[in-house]
Amino acid sequence: MSVRVRFAPSPTGYLHVGGLRTALYNYLFARNKGGKMIIRIEDTDRTRFVENAQENLISALQWAGITFDEGPGFGGDYGPYIQSERFDLYSKYAQDLIESGSAYYAFDTAEEIEAMRERQKKAGIAPKYDRATMKNQFTLGEQETQRLIDEGIEKVVRLKVPFNEEIKFKDIIRGDVSVKTKDVDDQILLKSDGFPTYHLANVVDDHLMKISHVIRGEEWLPSTPKHVLLYKSFGWEMPEFAHLPLLLNNNKTKLSKRHGDVAVEDFRQKGYIKEAFVNFVSLLGWNPSGDNEIHSLDYLIEHFNLEKVNKGGAIFDRPKLLWMNSMYLRKQSSEEIYEMLIEDLKSAGIDKPKDYVLEVITLLKERINFANDLVEFADYMWGKPSSFDEKFKAKQWKEGTEELVRPAIELLKTADKWEVDTLHKLIEDYLNEKGVGFGKLMNPLRLMITGKSVGAGMFETMVILGREECLERFDEFFIKMENGEI
Ligand code: GLU
Repeated sequence: MSVRVRFAPSPTGYLHVGGLRTALYNYLFARNKGGKMIIRIEDTDRTRFVENAQENLISALQWAGITFDEGPGFGGDYGPYIQSERFDLYSKYAQDLIESGSAYYAFDTAEEIEAMRERQKKAGIAPKYDRATMKNQFTLGEQETQRLIDEGIEKVVRLKVPFNEEIKFKDIIRGDVSVKTKDVDDQILLKSDGFPTYHLANVVDDHLMKISHVIRGEEWLPSTPKHVLLYKSFGWEMPEFAHLPLLLNNNKTKLSKRHGDVAVEDFRQKGYIKEAFVNFVSLLGWNPSGDNEIHSLDYLIEHFNLEKVNKGGAIFDRPKLLWMNSMYLRKQSSEEIYEMLIEDLKSAGIDKPKDYVLEVITLLKERINFANDLVEFADYMWGKPSSFDEKFKAKQWKEGTEELVRPAIELLKTADKWEVDTLHKLIEDYLNEKGVGFGKLMNPLRLMITGKSVGAGMFETMVILGREECLERFDEFFIKMENGEI
């Protein structure tokens, strides 16, 4: 059997990270099996229409590197791939179900449904369409039903869920699943405006598009028994099902905006490297091998195994995502990081020669999570420090520090070359002679040059800044101190 999978988002305006994980697992599975990856837009709910939602979705998926073989704008023999362009189909299939006795007409008004819910609530029973007492084909009889249809009274089509049966299906991740029909509602298939619900459209399209595996989030698991009934009613072969684990916050609650970003676009804008982000998302529910967690997309494709996906919820560990990004950042060339950084430097009003920026990147890339962290983190490389870390100064600038620093600066002035080795040798000899440890001098120098307590090696930093700039900073520091500004 040839593998055909689909990502079937509803265009809600943005791509949720959970959606990306679903798309990604479908993609990895398809590519691993040499199958086809399809995107289908499920826009049957007109009340939720959002301008440009489809474009935003597809652009976020493409940013992540997911490619499609079929879908709107991608071609394919089973289109259209947008459900709103397939409406006629669904009513025809609903009609078939009515004729075969698997679905029926119901004429209840919204008020009547509400009253039924109230009754059930009072009686302490689960909300469920009560076929035996409500206004439908069975309680009204054939003639009355026909009369109401002819009169054009509003109606819906409901799935006729059999009594006292068990619906069984196999889930690749969860194993055998079994649900009693008494717990399954007579789902509306066609709404009063003639539009299909998700369930009907989804099953009809998965069948017509020859989908072999339905891989989707766990939140759709309760819908699957209804879908199984639909496949049986139509007499169609079922796809295989795999329901992916929920995504959770660190405190094990369902992943939510309250805990931070959930839209792929937000992560993209924050400056995450797409390979890092995709790597992180790919591990939400599955892991190809032991300890190593840094994997290329090709590696992920090669090793993807749906059967090894976990059942339990996957924690969306934000600190781990940051870490992952910093790991990828280190592996980027300074040129690549320059490309990521340049616009942010410009908007911060920083205008330095490219070669200089590249040197700063090479010096500091191991110490940041994002390329654009360098705007702030390396502020002393873009201009003289505007402030000096007070705590650091209190700790490092003590009695005797000035007496140690001043001669050291004089020595640095004599350096024949402003290079790391030369500066290092001068200072080393000086400190050896004095019998003083490196930190006693280098921390005060760091304060004077950068204003900060952390950064890269001081000699390397000073060499990039240049002799003149460093000497100016030393002078200015002393002046500020004399004026009581520091
Ligand atoms: N349209 C559904 C969604 O928004 C698709 C669920 C499925 O894959 O069946 O996620």
